[in-house]
Amino acid sequence: MPSYNALPLELLAEEFAKLPSIGMKTAQRLAYYIISQPEEDVQAFADALVSAKKKIHPCPCCQNLTDLELCSICADDTRDHSIICVVEGPKDVSALERTGEYTGVYHVLHGLISPIDGIMPDKLRIRELLARLQKGGVQEVIMATNPTAEGDATAMYLAQLLEPLGVKVTRLAFGLPVGGMLEYADDVTLFKALENRTAM
Ligand SMILES: [Zn+2]
Repeated sequence: MPSYNALPLELLAEEFAKLPSIGMKTAQRLAYYIISQPEEDVQAFADALVSAKKKIHPCPCCQNLTDLELCSICADDTRDHSIICVVEGPKDVSALERTGEYTGVYHVLHGLISPIDGIMPDKLRIRELLARLQKGGVQEVIMATNPTAEGDATAMYLAQLLEPLGVKVTRLAFGLPVGGMLEYADDVTLFKALENRTAM
């Protein structure tokens, strides 16, 4: 692409363009913005990037991202360590924690099985989950991957894998949003709500 910008500005824009959902136009706008900022603000931004990368690592137990030796959830003795909720990514842990309803612990897969995208089970943190279960003391594993094709496939794969271990495996029931109207629900949501119906 022909450019009339100074090279360092182009290089900065190229770095921004590597970020998810950032196109070249947005990347250039961000690069101009950075240049317009006071140097100390830009330095603080750069420091935050490097510091986050250096300090954050997966928890050796649940694989969620943490800056502690063991994440705050795994280290919490008041939580029920016999129930493990399996999720796709760290954002799902935050979402479930926001509900304030769940008192068990988590296991973060860091992705879902997706042969089309070349993501096979060995790319996920499944070995680490098996190691946790083999230590014993776990009574239930809740598959809380999203109700998408990849999420369902991953949950099914794991359920089969865990079967010989004799641990109870459950799947999050995906129903209608609270306060949602049946007529406005999409087909899949409605189907899932019907499929997961419970006795009254
Ligand atoms: Zn942890």
